[in-house]
Amino acid sequence: MICPNCGREMILEKVEKVLNFRGRELAVTLEQYRCHDCGLEAGTVDQAGCVQNAIADAWRLAEGFLTGREIRSLREARSWTQAGLARAANLDPAAIRRWENGCIQPPEADRALRLALEARENQD
Ligand SMILES: [Zn+2]
Repeated sequence: MICPNCGREMILEKVEKVLNFRGRELAVTLEQYRCHDCGLEAGTVDQAGCVQNAIADAWRLAEGFLTGREIRSLREARSWTQAGLARAANLDPAAIRRWENGCIQPPEADRALRLALEARENQD
């Protein structure tokens, strides 16, 4: 990526930022382009989604909710599709897709997910 300010090459780097979200200070690691010549920092359209996921997952971790990554990996460890987990937890499959992709589930859905995932684990 070329720096729009000075025309030099920008470098993709990981930065630690502390952000405030839903009343919590969250330390998140984000990827962004940085120009070492003029100091300009820029994300990409692609990364805007990742930034939100990082914030949503940091918040869920801080609140003791399952993160999107955890929902996906726990589900896959049980050979469940999103539809399979949705049926077992009595939830909407489209909602499970959203939560895995960065949206934050409501507390009652977090409990339903945990119960369904634990019940499945005990069956095996
Ligand atoms: Zn620059």
